[in-house]
Amino acid sequence: MKSKILIIEDNQQNMYMLTFLLESYNYKVFQAYNGLAGISVAKDIKPDIILLDIQLPEMDGYTVARKLKEDEQMKDIPIIAVTSYAMPGDREKVMEAGAIGYIEKPIDPDTFVTQMLSFLPPEYEPESEG
Ligand code: MN
Repeated sequence: MKSKILIIEDNQQNMYMLTFLLESYNYKVFQAYNGLAGISVAKDIKPDIILLDIQLPEMDGYTVARKLKEDEQMKDIPIIAVTSYAMPGDREKVMEAGAIGYIEKPIDPDTFVTQMLSFLPPEYEPESEG
């Protein structure tokens, strides 16, 4: 199972909810509250998935995605944008920056993991218990 997820998100409540949700599916969660920290943590831990907020202080999510994609060691890590931007064209802009998927906020705790997995191959599915 590919289980290491890095969340880059500046809103503490969203971070808490995503972490709680993903840990309840046995994912191993790593957190970063801004883009630079996120890139640095990604280099260190080589996550299997990156969940990326777009509206971040200083360096926005588009820039973070582009930087990750420019890095030989990190370019293959799937990035899924989690964002409340809902202007026409935003989805395209996120995908252009390198994300493989886009989940709109507010997130729905009942369907979030299913939505996330819909962008990923089967080996990302959570391990069932027992
Ligand atoms: Mn944000």
